[in-house]
Amino acid sequence: MSENQNIDHSTDESIVRSNFIHNIIDEDIENNVYDRKVHTRFPPEPNGYLHIGHAKSICLNFGTAKKYRGLCNLRFDDTNPIKEEVEFIESIKKDVKWLGFDWEERMYYASDYFEKLYECAIILIEKGKAYVCDLSAEQMREYRGTLTSNGKPSPYRDRSVQENLDLFKRMRAGEFEDGARVLRANIDMESPNLNMRDPVLYRISHATHHRTKDDWCIYPMYDYAHPISDALEDITHSICTLEFEAHRPLYDWVLSELDFKQPPKQIEFARLELTNTVMSKRKLRKLVEEGYVNGWDDPRMPTMSALRRRGYTPEAIRDFCDKIGVAKAISQVDIALLEHCIRDNLKLKEARMMAVLRPLKVVITNYPADKVEYFKVENNQESPEMGTREVPFCREIYIEQEDFMENPPKKYFRLYPGNEVRLKNAYFVKCEEIIKNDAGEIVEIRCTYDPETRSGSGFTGRKVKGTLHWVSAQHAVKAQVRLYDNLFLEQEQAAVSESVELDGMMLNKNSLEVIESYIEPSVKEAKSGQRYQFIRNGYFCVDAVDSTPEKMVFNRIVSLKSSFKIKN
Ligand code: ATP
Ligand code: MG
Repeated sequence: MSENQNIDHSTDESIVRSNFIHNIIDEDIENNVYDRKVHTRFPPEPNGYLHIGHAKSICLNFGTAKKYRGLCNLRFDDTNPIKEEVEFIESIKKDVKWLGFDWEERMYYASDYFEKLYECAIILIEKGKAYVCDLSAEQMREYRGTLTSNGKPSPYRDRSVQENLDLFKRMRAGEFEDGARVLRANIDMESPNLNMRDPVLYRISHATHHRTKDDWCIYPMYDYAHPISDALEDITHSICTLEFEAHRPLYDWVLSELDFKQPPKQIEFARLELTNTVMSKRKLRKLVEEGYVNGWDDPRMPTMSALRRRGYTPEAIRDFCDKIGVAKAISQVDIALLEHCIRDNLKLKEARMMAVLRPLKVVITNYPADKVEYFKVENNQESPEMGTREVPFCREIYIEQEDFMENPPKKYFRLYPGNEVRLKNAYFVKCEEIIKNDAGEIVEIRCTYDPETRSGSGFTGRKVKGTLHWVSAQHAVKAQVRLYDNLFLEQEQAAVSESVELDGMMLNKNSLEVIESYIEPSVKEAKSGQRYQFIRNGYFCVDAVDSTPEKMVFNRIVSLKSSFKIKN
């Protein structure tokens, strides 16, 4: 088949743009390296929730399969019995689906292959390529040598095949304590690559596995289980992150010694690193377990479940993964790019509402107390097909506190004593009086309005420089609004902000602000997860966990402005 016939040229945006991995695949197709379809896999260890870094890997693996009309498997790498939990498996499945990818019927577990992996170990022993070693972990480290010194052979390296078979079977049968013995590959103690100095293939662990229960008390190591799992699933291109580069010779060694035909090939790429973000599952888990955040889906977390709850869309995350590209060189991506992607995705899709986050009451003294007008307003001026809605106006309204100043500086065009501004979609109002409480704080503004200046009436008598958004006090929905800032601070930010250090993470003490706000009444109908633009204030979504019809809760997904300039 020629290359052109093999590639899916549809314009589906879930197909990743071309990258160096695709060049390798193109070459393999050209040279007929495989007589099977391009086949990738996404192999998470079910020991935590997926994060935005995993999204990069998911988009790459599933996107590559799609591009070449191939297949991508979901495989749980559950070779470590201690750390894995069913909760994580369910969340991983949900996240992959939500991102828009489908493993069809190909969901596997490395633990499905335990018997097969054991048989392969027997083959290696029979070939003299693996042996049972009784050195302690500490002794083994000593014998291994260092980058600058050779290793020396284990005294158990020359055991007979017979003795190795007998001991390995007895390891499986549970005769020995944890750590008493291991099975090691017999490769090369003088290799410059430490991974090749007789690496451990199996260890003893009398632990209950979440799927195989107590069937096994020996467990295969990742470097041994992974290539074989790939080969058993007919994977052609095993894409992983850069830290496995030095493990590739071992990956190839295992498959070659076991005589797999057309073995899969491992290709490494640079993992995603984002500013203001920590992506180690171990560290994220610590934040959850020690109560620094409210669970894995706390909207400040970099997990997929948190991004979903915050209001991110799968389209925005896929777009982000496409924009960052795939390369060998590690580089840190500015989190502003992720924010750019969600703004861009929501811009034309979501209705633009008026919400007053920090309210200040305004009374329009010459507007009748019992009068209500309804103004027809476009839902999104850039998307006329989104229709219109009615917004009520009456004598008492709220504006943002920051839209009024008693003693304004030059070039302040919003409301101040004696100044006239436009109320968006409504009338011009002029500030006549300030009401303060006993403490001297401003609690209310009194204005007059000019009935001639109604928006849309064609009024051209005079111009004003400021336009303010507002909500009708009588009609507005009082809601809780949660504003988020980065949970993690970069070093230089931590130096000038309130932060707390935990396990190397610099946590922002001010990453969450909860306020009571007023929102125009049309949001009453909103469903859980529904998104809006609140003009000037950002994109928001109805919190899927805490919002109720009686007490609505909104998350700010992202503010409207960014200093970030995107090149393409
Ligand atoms: P962590 O360090 O967060 O625990 P991990 O690599 O141990 O991550 P796995 O469950 O083993 O987590 O990862 C599944 C797949 O996702 C692997 O192929 C891994 O290379 C990839 N992956 C993990 N983190 C990133 C990242 N930041 N960028 C790109 N791919 C990643
Ligand atoms: Mg891992």
